[in-house]
Parts: sequence; structure tokens; C-alpha cells
Amino acid sequence: MANSDNSPAPLALVIGGCTGIGKAVSLRLAADGFDIVATSRKSSAASAEVASGVAACGRQFRLLEFDVCDRERSRQVLGEAFAQQTPDVVVYNAGIAQDNLFVFMENSQWDQVLDTNLNGFFNTVQPLVFSMLAQRRGRIIVISSASGQTGQAGQVNYSASKAGLIGSVKALAREVGRKGILVNAVAPGLIATDMIKDLPVNEMVKLIPLHRAGEVEEVAGVVSFLAGKDASYITGQVIAVNGGLVI
Ligand code: NDP
Repeated sequence: MANSDNSPAPLALVIGGCTGIGKAVSLRLAADGFDIVATSRKSSAASAEVASGVAACGRQFRLLEFDVCDRERSRQVLGEAFAQQTPDVVVYNAGIAQDNLFVFMENSQWDQVLDTNLNGFFNTVQPLVFSMLAQRRGRIIVISSASGQTGQAGQVNYSASKAGLIGSVKALAREVGRKGILVNAVAPGLIATDMIKDLPVNEMVKLIPLHRAGEVEEVAGVVSFLAGKDASYITGQVIAVNGGLVI
């Protein structure tokens, strides 16, 4: 995707693009030739690391700081940031888990997970769609989860949010396909990030045919594919990256 003439480099927005899977996506898309706008709730050593990784690829980097649960601020920051140039690729990666059995689930656990994982998608991606439609091209890639495909005990909130994203992706793909915008989901299984650091990973990998957790780069590679020219006839799909956990 790198620009060979004087035209601006393609631009990718990675919502939640400074840690874990999102960091790997930011760095991979920079290596693919995209300038990167990544979001985080606040700048940190992690965002500085992504900034220098993107710069090392010879690409531009910009950090936007906001909480995806804050609809007003999300819209304001994104509106200002993309007033001049519409992103070519938008990756919605922000997500949290707050696991509990449904019978014990607290209101805040339900609300925070749905607000971040599903409402955050609406708060951040919806405001960008009008200008993507006007541009008549673009890719929207959403990080869902195997939990959203199969349901996971102890994760009724998380599974609902991630299944909700899959439904959103399928419906949106139907709405915007005629305008040249492709919308897909990636559904990771167990991926080695901070999100799984408190889980019994050694036990869990026994359920995975490949007998290991995935690496963030293995998810980022699929995002790269969906963002690139080889995925030009793929929309409304859920690509699983799970080592065979869900077959
Ligand atoms: P991380 O905790 O490293 O990443 C979570 C990301 O979400 C961070 O970029 C964080 O941004 C962002 N985020 C969380 N809450 C908010 C908020 N309120 N506003 C803005 N940004 C927010 O974990 P992972 O890399 O593992 O997770 C990335 C995605 O992958 C998530 O959607 C997760 O559900 C999904 N996933 C992960 C799996 C795994 O096994 N690791 C499996 C399946 C799916 P920051 O902290 O910088 O503000």
C-alpha cells in the first residue's frame, strides 16, 4: 500500500491502538505503508513505543486521547482529527472483559463491558461512515472474539458485546457495500496479551488444537490482509484466529 508518487500515504485509524493486539495492528499497518492514527485513553510509555515503531517504518503517527464510552468527546476528537483526511482503514479494537457468572453479575460489569465493546464501536465508527461513504472506499475491521461466536460461560456480558459486534459488522456490510466500503470482523481466540494474564492459560491451551496461545502478530497479520488489496472481495465475514479453538 505504500505510496510511490507524491500522493499522501493511506491512513489507518486504530481505535485502541497502543497495547496488545492494537499495538501489533498499528505497527503492522505502518509496515504495510499506512500512516497511523491510534487512540488510547491517555498517552503513556506504550503509546510512545508505538509512535517510535511507526516512525521507524517511515510513516506518520498521531495519538488521539479519549474514552470510547464518552460519545460526545469521541465524536468531537474524531471530527477534528479527520476534518481534512478520511481514514482509509478503521480498526475497532478497544475492548475489556469483566468476567463473572451471570447469576452474580453486577450492573457495572454488564454496563462497562457493553459500553466499551459495543457502544464504543457506535461512538467512534459511526461518525466516520458519512465521509467514508462520500469517499466511496474504505475498510472497517472490528476485533470481535471467539466468545462472541460460541458464547463462553462466565462471559455473558463479553459474549453479548462481541456477538453484537458480529451482527453490526454483517448489517453494516450490507448497508455500505454498494459504496465500496468493506466491513469485516476478526475473532481471536486466546491471544497472549495482558487481557489473559490472570487466566489459567496452561489449562486452556489443552482445548486448543494448536496447543498454544496465539501471538498478537498473528491477529495483526489477518487485519493487514483485510486492509489490503487481496481482500477486495471479502465483506461481512468473520475471520477466526484461534488455533482451532472454534471449528
Ligand atoms: P489490551 O487490554 O491490551 O487492549 C485493550 C485495548 O482497548 C487497549 O488499546 C485500550 O486502550 C482499549 N480500551 C479499553 N477500554 C477503553 C476505553 N474505555 N476507551 C478507549 N479505549 C479503551 O488487550 P488485548 O490486546 O488482548 O485486546 C484487544 C482486543 O482484542 C479487545 O477488543 C479484546 O476484547 C479482543 N480480544 C482479545 C483476546 C485475547 O485473548 N487477548 C481474545 C479475543 C478478543 P488504552 O488502555 O490504551 O486506553
